[in-house]
Amino acid sequence: MEINHSASQNTEVFPGAVMDLPGGGVVTSSFQDLINWARSNSLWPLTFATSCCGIEMMSTASAKYDFSRFGFEVARATPRQADVIIIAGTIVNKMAPVLKRLYDQMADPKYVIAMGACAISGGPFFYNTYSVVKGADHIIPVDVYIPGCPPRPEALLHALITLQDKIKGGLTREQIREQSTNPSL
Ligand code: SF4
Repeated sequence: MEINHSASQNTEVFPGAVMDLPGGGVVTSSFQDLINWARSNSLWPLTFATSCCGIEMMSTASAKYDFSRFGFEVARATPRQADVIIIAGTIVNKMAPVLKRLYDQMADPKYVIAMGACAISGGPFFYNTYSVVKGADHIIPVDVYIPGCPPRPEALLHALITLQDKIKGGLTREQIREQSTNPSL
């Protein structure tokens, strides 16, 4: 599956033409491109940090990595104002209904990032524990997987920027998820 990169190769490129005219200017674009552009540049994360991966997520917001450079800085503590949930850490069975409720309360279109081995598969240490969910995708649909224990902040930035590019390219959520589970597409 090909991604439409026309508007996504450079995050600074406006998806349309701007013509300077005496006394002003004219902008031409397609409405859908504008929507995708605006949506991709305002991905507000809902934080769901349950263990050590959460520390890496917090450092991604720090001055050194500074994810506000890309428009992700408006981290929300309420699902109704968030577009992307970053699951950073282990999910225990008791917590699973809470995660599902938070996801259900997020407004569409919404995206899910599973950060680290625990969120992807139950984790390297707790996998066979009776109390641990063996991956967030047993509870909610996951769009982006970030492997590692823990993944570094660069990996989270890469995941967010890749998600941003795909939204900008006009991919639907189903197409994004399909590519995540089958990288050969
Ligand atoms: S993947 Fe590793 S670093 Fe992340 S929450 Fe699990 S044990 Fe901690």
